[in-house]
Amino acid sequence: MIDFEKFLKEKTGTKIHIETTSHRKTLVQVITGPGGEKTVKIHHHLVKGPPEILIAIADFIAGKEKKKNRRLIIEYVKKNQHLFLKQYKTRINYTGKFYNLKQIFDKINAQFFDRRLSSVNITFGKRYNGKRHRSIVFGNYCPEINLIRINRVLDSDSVPEFFVEYIVFHEMLHAYLYLSDFKTTCHTKTFKNMEKKYPYLEQAEQWKRQNLCLFIDPKREKHVQKIN
Ligand SMILES: [Zn+2]
Repeated sequence: MIDFEKFLKEKTGTKIHIETTSHRKTLVQVITGPGGEKTVKIHHHLVKGPPEILIAIADFIAGKEKKKNRRLIIEYVKKNQHLFLKQYKTRINYTGKFYNLKQIFDKINAQFFDRRLSSVNITFGKRYNGKRHRSIVFGNYCPEINLIRINRVLDSDSVPEFFVEYIVFHEMLHAYLYLSDFKTTCHTKTFKNMEKKYPYLEQAEQWKRQNLCLFIDPKREKHVQKIN
């Protein structure tokens, strides 16, 4: 690891602390602390990648050509999936205490996607420990296993149904565009234009702005930039 830290320092000109992980979820995650210090969480197999990938990672971390470098990293991971597959052993559990994700999914699938997403699975993520974190991801779509994961923090009576529905819709839109040959889960222009057609978008965004403190501890909030 020392070597990669050294390499990064040479490439970026700053000292960056490296933590390796074995979660597929975290490929590269750059966390900038309050004093501007950077910590990078990175998948341990990425650090062992070929030189062109190490360069792409360093450039991504330095904020150079982020789009291009993100694509290079993701392409490398896809070509070498066997190295990154471990955490895919996942259980499907869509029944929460307050919300049933499958019901929400089926309703949105019929209403907005002409039932074309029936092959996609949905589940709540792992159990919530009740702590507020410094950042939050409400949902994600993992194309490799065609699965939408919804953060269990949303299974609460303080979260209105329209907000859960919006998050599910957002992830379904990622799935829809990925599966209709766009092969990307980024927030592209097409994605944003289609999302704008969602009738509760504004209401959901407003609710999020006003209630983010339910999920994030403002004292611990940090800027997080990640590929997942
Ligand atoms: Zn998204």
